[in-house]
Amino acid sequence: MRFPASVDTQPYWDALDAGELRVQRCTACGTWRHYPRPMCTACHDFGHAWLPVSGAGTVHSWTVTHQSPLPGFTEAVPFVLVTVDMAEGIRMLGLLKDLDPDRLHIGLPVRASVETVPGGEPQPVFRPV
Ligand SMILES: [Zn+2]
Repeated sequence: MRFPASVDTQPYWDALDAGELRVQRCTACGTWRHYPRPMCTACHDFGHAWLPVSGAGTVHSWTVTHQSPLPGFTEAVPFVLVTVDMAEGIRMLGLLKDLDPDRLHIGLPVRASVETVPGGEPQPVFRPV
């Protein structure tokens, strides 16, 4: 399931469809910004480019989902959603794979990739490094 795109978010979804994780970066001051928005919160400039991110980050927080009404995810429970502090200074949300939730901790190094998740959409997926 994908949230409706807007003029500000369509390039994000297009990049995921191409298997890339791209994020807005202000062309005036270089600040990365996510989620997508029309104006830089650091310098208030409207200029930006969609650039690939490193994929490197650390776990900020997580939740283990045991019930989901979302198509495709109903059978995927339990699954772990993490918020990740990316090396670029932004925070992203995605699935965590290949780790027992009992071993999860704040600051765990992870790396993002783009994968098709339950429900059939390409999304950021994180794995421990
Ligand atoms: Zn800026």
